[in-house]
Amino acid sequence: MGDALVVVVSGPGGVGKGTVVAELLAQHPDELWLSRSWTTRQQRPGEDDQAYVFVSREEFEQRISEDGFLEFAEFLGNYYGTPTPDAPEGAVQILEIDVQGARQVMAKEPDCLLIFLEAPSAEEQEARLRHRGDSEEQVAKRLAKAHEEADAGVELGAHRIVNVDIDETVAEMYEVIRSALGRR
Ligand code: 5GP
Repeated sequence: MGDALVVVVSGPGGVGKGTVVAELLAQHPDELWLSRSWTTRQQRPGEDDQAYVFVSREEFEQRISEDGFLEFAEFLGNYYGTPTPDAPEGAVQILEIDVQGARQVMAKEPDCLLIFLEAPSAEEQEARLRHRGDSEEQVAKRLAKAHEEADAGVELGAHRIVNVDIDETVAEMYEVIRSALGRR
């Protein structure tokens, strides 16, 4: 991955990771590069075709056997993984991944910047998890999982941001990235 700064954005489900990362990228398209993950999860109705590379378990396992992932994890029965990054020279590499993946990237890239997003309240988080078109059963699993992951940011020594206001969160993320670049 060369000398590029790797930024891992993680946090429990329902904190708005995807939304803030999309906005951050929209504001700074020339400096930041977003990794596109592979998943074996089914595409949700209305979900962007570009949200993931949607593959079968066989295709995913084939890529694992070829050592084609920087990290991968199983989350609620599906595989998710970051393909070995292929970012343009000089770009900051952004990975929006779960906590298990964050641990693996930190082990491989100790200089990475870990940003952990937190929900302003449990109610808001639950509401966000419910409005994605998942089944009741999936929502319940995702909620349990989110509770399990909530403390990981402290344990991992992440820079934590409570996502109250998207614009403020995005601005703070960009500042943290700039200052990490300044320290290199
Ligand atoms: P979702 O199914 O809601 O799109 O994603 C479920 C979880 O998997 C989220 O926490 C998301 O950040 C995480 N995730 C997405 N892509 C990756 C990846 O490439 N690796 C890992 N470890 N987690 C990922």
